[in-house]
Amino acid sequence: MSTHLLAIVVCDFPFEETLTENGVKVRIYTAPHHLQKAEYALSSASKILTYYEKYFGVPFPLKKLDLAVIPDLARSGAENWGLITLREDSVLCGGDCPMATKYRLATLLAKQLAHQWFGDLVTMRWWDEQWLNEGFSTYISRKGVKHVEPDLDKEDDIELLRLTDAMISDRAIYSRPIVQRVEKVSEMYDDIECKKGSSILRMLENSIGDDFREGISVSSSFKMFSFKSLKPMK
Ligand SMILES: [Zn+2]
Repeated sequence: MSTHLLAIVVCDFPFEETLTENGVKVRIYTAPHHLQKAEYALSSASKILTYYEKYFGVPFPLKKLDLAVIPDLARSGAENWGLITLREDSVLCGGDCPMATKYRLATLLAKQLAHQWFGDLVTMRWWDEQWLNEGFSTYISRKGVKHVEPDLDKEDDIELLRLTDAMISDRAIYSRPIVQRVEKVSEMYDDIECKKGSSILRMLENSIGDDFREGISVSSSFKMFSFKSLKPMK
């Protein structure tokens, strides 16, 4: 496990708990007055986790997954293994929650959950190849959202937006190759690796069809490189 994925949260927040179909214990911790508004995130996370286990053909390797809702956090979410941290304003959703909020929340959860495999179970040897973690988790998240919220699914619109954002970043003078030597980790996590990466994977799946999923599940890098780091062949 990569050291950047270790997280420890110390709090006396209450939690709600559920079990996935395969018996993984999923909990959400939040400030007491927000607990009810966390139910949607808890049930969605549990459903998406089960869906990914089937889609990837590889079970979630831990016995538990905690979601910790933190009042203030620099990023909306972080994929620490087995302890996803989420910023409070990105994750709470009451009974009258607008569709757009639900969609954003499901997308955030689906991405952080995809990272439990892409990036956590298998980690890239170095940050140069980080686009594989970010591109795959961004792209696969649309499948997780579609599973949990089929009526809210706007995957074509979202993919088109991602593609446009990626092209805008890519035409800029400061654009860069998708794989490059990384000196500073703070330079990472941009539209090139997330959105361009996702758009390339979408193009790949559109070209090769079912082989895309086969490649992930049957001859999977997860099976060969679980709990290890990998360096893609050039
Ligand atoms: Zn990410």
